[in-house]
Formats: sequence, structure tokens, C-alpha cells
Amino acid sequence: MKKSRLIIGNWKSYLGLADGIALAKALVDHHVPQANQIVVICPQFPLLGAISQVLPFHQQTSNGILLGSQDISAWDAGAHTGDVSHSLLSDLGCHYSIIGHSERRQGNQETDAMLKEKLVMAINNGITPIFCVGEPLNVYQSKQTLAFIEAQLTAVFSDFPAIPDQLIIAYEPIWAIGSNIIPRLSEIETVHQHINKALQQLFPVTPSESIRIIYGGSVNADNCKSMIQQPSVDGFLVGRASISELDFLSIIVNSNKEFTS
Ligand code: PEP
Repeated sequence: MKKSRLIIGNWKSYLGLADGIALAKALVDHHVPQANQIVVICPQFPLLGAISQVLPFHQQTSNGILLGSQDISAWDAGAHTGDVSHSLLSDLGCHYSIIGHSERRQGNQETDAMLKEKLVMAINNGITPIFCVGEPLNVYQSKQTLAFIEAQLTAVFSDFPAIPDQLIIAYEPIWAIGSNIIPRLSEIETVHQHINKALQQLFPVTPSESIRIIYGGSVNADNCKSMIQQPSVDGFLVGRASISELDFLSIIVNSNKEFTS
């Protein structure tokens, strides 16, 4: 089976209500679905309701723009002040969730144990995790990237109590996020292959088509063209460039392997 590629926009906390709705409407109006490609946007939590109203038709099609959250609760619905329940996310048509972004690992002290709970909750509630891994600059410079990433995967997925239907791993070197610097293509390929190998050992019965490995960190409309040609790059997690209509739509078109090859 051919894997569909993913272009996922992480809006972080950049856009407010009016700007978020305007961007979602503009994307709906101008997005041209590409073969074998899934597009997901991840706005801030309070925007999900309003944006889901902009995307109702899209959410029912396989080639529309889909909705994801930037985090997920580690608990079932109940006495968890400030959390958002999985059933509410599903009601809003939000079927993807970014988990373990480096900004949350660092800024919100999210631990491996917490991330494992979140991953289990997402999978048990039918939400596809976009699990972020990536090394800091000192690890990259000391050439310890592969061991670091493998440890991040093993910390959450060994003895994992759920079987994912779909799993997305986003390789995001921390030093590449927001820096306009990206790793060499051969480095990205090596890391993605290593992630793939590690996951095959951690999930021996999960079909390989169900696992996608995407790259994130300073992706733009230009550098995506060569990165998408790498055999193990299944798409992108896009930060800053995803809040510009023109940039995000260009990444969507330029990440069409058939188109660029
Ligand atoms: C991100 O933080 O997920 C990201 C990819 O950011 P940027 O594209 O802005 O580097």
C-alpha cells in the first residue's frame, strides 16, 4: 500500500481568533488537494471550535484539510482543571494531536512518563499521535543523535500498553526549529531510517504503512522540494511557515513527490 504523505501545520500560539479563522478560510478556498497527501492544521485549543466550523466539509473528505491539537490530556474526562477531554476533541473533528513537542518538553517540563500516558490516551481514543523527537545542538555536535532519538522512542514505547492504528513520528532537531538551518539531507535520511528500524522492533505487528516519519524544523517552500525526495521522509511538521497562507500552500504543492521529481 502506498503511504500518504502528511503536511502538518503547527500554528503554536501565533494566531488569535480573527487571524486564525481568516487563515483557515483562505486555506479552504485555495487548497488544491494533492495525490496521496493529507494536510492537517493544529491551531491553539480555544480556536478549534471556530476552525472546525470552517472545515466541516473538509473533515469528511480524505483530501481536505483536517484538524489537530497541539497537545492532549493524559487523563480521562473528569476532575482535570485546564485539560481538554478527548471526546470534545473528537466532537470537534480533531483527529490528530501533537505530543512531546520540544517546546512543551522544555517549557512545560513534560516527562517521558507523562508523554507515554498522553500517547496511550490518544491511541485509545482514536486520535493519531504526532510524536515529536529531536536532539539539542550539543548532542548533534557530539554525533550522538541516533542514540539520543532511540532513547526518546524507547522511553515511551517500550512495554507500550496500546497498539497504534496510525502513528506519526516527527523528527525535529531542536537546533533546526525556528533557526532557518536544516540538517543535511543525508543526515535526515539516516535519522529517519534509524527511527524506522527502532519502531519496527518496538511495534513488530504494526504494518509499516501505518507508521509515518515526518521532518520538522525550518521547513519552507523551497527546502521542502529536496527533502520530500528522500525515501524515508513522509512529510513535514511546519511551524512559522504554516501561518502564512502563501508559504503553507506552496509547501503543500512543492511537497508533492510526483510534481517535484
Ligand atoms: C516546530 O516548532 O514544530 C517547527 C517545525 O517550527 P519551525 O518550522 O518554525 O522551525
